[in-house]
Amino acid sequence: MTDADKFLYGDRSAINNPLAQADWSSKKLVWVPSEKLGFEAGSVKEEHGDECVVELTDSGKKVKVNKDDIQKMNPPKFNKVEDMAELTCLNEASVLHNLKDRYYSGLIYTYSGLFCVVVNPYKYLPIYTEDIVNMYKGKKRHEMPPHIYAITDTAYRSMMQDREDQSILCTGESGAGKTENTKKVIQYLAHVASSFKSKKDQVMFPLHQGELEKQLLQANPILEAFGNAKTVKNDNSSRFGKFIRINFDVNGYIVGANIETYLLEKSRAIRQAKDERSFHVFYYMLSGAGDKLRSELCLEDYSKYRFLSNGNVTIPGQQDKDMFTETMDAFEIMSIPEEERIGLLKVVSAVLQLGNMTFKKERHSDQASMPDDTAAQKVCHLLGINVTDFTRAILSPRIKVGRDYVQKAQTQEQAEFAVEALAKASYERMFRWLVLRINKALDKTKRQGASFIGILDIAGFEIFELNSFEQLCINYTNEKLQQLFNHTMFILEQEEYQREGIEWSFIDFGLDLQPCIDLIEKPAGPPGILALLDEECWFPKATDKTFVEKVVQEQGTHPKFQKPKKLKDDADFCIIHYAGKVDYKADEWLMKNMDPLNECVATLLNQSTDKFTADLWRDMDRIVGLDKVAGMSDSMHGAFKTRKGMFRTVGQLYKEQLSNLMATLRNTNPNFVRCIIPNHEKKAGKLEPHLVLDQLRCNGVLEGIRICRQGFPNRIVFQEFRQRYEILTPNAIPKGFMDGKQACVLMIKALELDPNLYRIGQSKVFFRAGVLAHLEEERDMK
Ligand code: ATP
Ligand code: MG
Repeated sequence: MTDADKFLYGDRSAINNPLAQADWSSKKLVWVPSEKLGFEAGSVKEEHGDECVVELTDSGKKVKVNKDDIQKMNPPKFNKVEDMAELTCLNEASVLHNLKDRYYSGLIYTYSGLFCVVVNPYKYLPIYTEDIVNMYKGKKRHEMPPHIYAITDTAYRSMMQDREDQSILCTGESGAGKTENTKKVIQYLAHVASSFKSKKDQVMFPLHQGELEKQLLQANPILEAFGNAKTVKNDNSSRFGKFIRINFDVNGYIVGANIETYLLEKSRAIRQAKDERSFHVFYYMLSGAGDKLRSELCLEDYSKYRFLSNGNVTIPGQQDKDMFTETMDAFEIMSIPEEERIGLLKVVSAVLQLGNMTFKKERHSDQASMPDDTAAQKVCHLLGINVTDFTRAILSPRIKVGRDYVQKAQTQEQAEFAVEALAKASYERMFRWLVLRINKALDKTKRQGASFIGILDIAGFEIFELNSFEQLCINYTNEKLQQLFNHTMFILEQEEYQREGIEWSFIDFGLDLQPCIDLIEKPAGPPGILALLDEECWFPKATDKTFVEKVVQEQGTHPKFQKPKKLKDDADFCIIHYAGKVDYKADEWLMKNMDPLNECVATLLNQSTDKFTADLWRDMDRIVGLDKVAGMSDSMHGAFKTRKGMFRTVGQLYKEQLSNLMATLRNTNPNFVRCIIPNHEKKAGKLEPHLVLDQLRCNGVLEGIRICRQGFPNRIVFQEFRQRYEILTPNAIPKGFMDGKQACVLMIKALELDPNLYRIGQSKVFFRAGVLAHLEEERDMK
């Protein structure tokens, strides 16, 4: 057996095993719920009213189970089935069993109707080699086993044939494999659609890539160095979302690419939870920079930095020093010159130095003072600003009151806050600059693409014990993506029924998500949560608490909203999301939404003598002063109103960004990839059933199946139907030639099926869930 046979096709010999088939029909095999295993196989021994006695297959134990809790097992014909939409017994137990069965055989990809489900193997599998890429090239989806390459190839072919833009959407929880699969998509496209590979080139340089493809592949390591970090869940966790758009010309060659990023977790630059790291680049730089660079960047030992609170945490199997070299090589390939690289690293180093500035309360007043300015000097040296100006701007900034400017001394707390905000803003601006710079490199042909494939790598629903503004944004995103999925499924099903001339009104379950989306994003009538948050931000003396009161007042009776008094004491409100109930705590939401900065420092940076720094701080529209925010200094608050026109809150900006993304996605043909984490120990070969079931519930795979059940999920082309089941209706079809449809009609008539259980289309016969299992049983008895 080759690797491909083993890890793509697997061993499906059981499907034609007569013993297994006989077992299934004679023993009435079923699934019963199990605390530990999710579900256990058993055989029904007795039935009394609502109760059954089931003998568990593994232990031989007999248990009493309520009939409603029993789920039917599929006939062996469906063992390790590649598309779970084909299952005739469509239930949670069978879906879990099928995924598990395949996973333990090394088969990590499985389809479920429109979804491709992939379970993280946590080990190297030989299924991403160039040979395998070539195997998938130009094949139809059903001709090959499930794979991210099949999804990508299908998208690529439909783009070429139908001239329709495509998207591939990877979601899942942290560590589920979104980024790994995204990289495989790009790898595949860079291989099959490289303009460099003209016939002649292919013969001469079979492994050679064009420059653009090389740059496209190098964008990831750069983004990961600056945007990924080790977390408890994932050693290489993306702390931002991204949408990579690859543009193709009419011949299907890559002509350029563009990356859009979302919601960078910038607070990680200043604070990390236990056992976690800051962004990789900090460690790469501190471990990898040579002596000359170290002194140019004023680098110190890990232990000296307060912003690296956990010191030098290392990643198993990874050398930060080597990763530094790799990152610099990637910059080289991306043609980002030395001076820009140094510019970036100076900001990285300055962020660390900002953490070392410490303040004290003066003895006779509330004013902050800075006893030691060593760190401040280093910051100023790195960023090209004057240290006296900088210190003054932090300790007693000039603030506009009415028409005049006054100097206002800051408290220790205010000074510390300002420095942290500055560190986060610097890191974020640098990241944004980097993305722009990469886009400039990837788009240099400036040739207008004929069509594109977009790949989305963004976190799935997050449901922690308590959730904050960041979770609201990501859960809001997932509501919209799930709505897109449900709507797509509706359209495609509808089309299939129409094509086959079958009457069946399908329900658009996308509409189900609208109330929750409205609760979050509606601008008025009554305003949703984001609008209320904005409103409160302009309101003098507002606090997080008054915001919560407003939300309760305006949305208290919304069906997707629950008031605090029904909840755990420390939650402020609860939203009933698609994936489940989520408790939110509104601490610091006003601040997070405003994201204020010390304007005086921003102005200094804007006028820096360092070209790179001045460039980062060129755009000042987005800045709202610290003094303008409720709670920081309420006497100044009135001044804020005048800037309302220019300034946009974090919530508003994200809402706009998301609405652009959705508009783009709605104009594409979407392909959904659901990534599943099998366990929380990063362990190969271990699948926690309840963990997987939870994810299947959150990501809509199970609901997709429930929706399917309302229609006619099992479809068989006439010829196949006749081949397999003619044995059940020996005299129904006269000898000699007969057209497929006609034969099918006669067979169905002879089977005396309830008319509600089937529909006969133009090329296929459609069945309700479970009907095929029944036919299989009958077939066994023959
Ligand atoms: P996050 O939301 O934290 O960014 P993610 O969904 O992007 O998580 P990945 O970084 O893609 O998760 O995957 C986590 C780890 O799991 C990888 O570093 C790799 O070790 C392993 N992994 C994921 N997919 C595969 C795969 N197909 N083959 C081998 N290993 C994999
Ligand atoms: Mg990731």
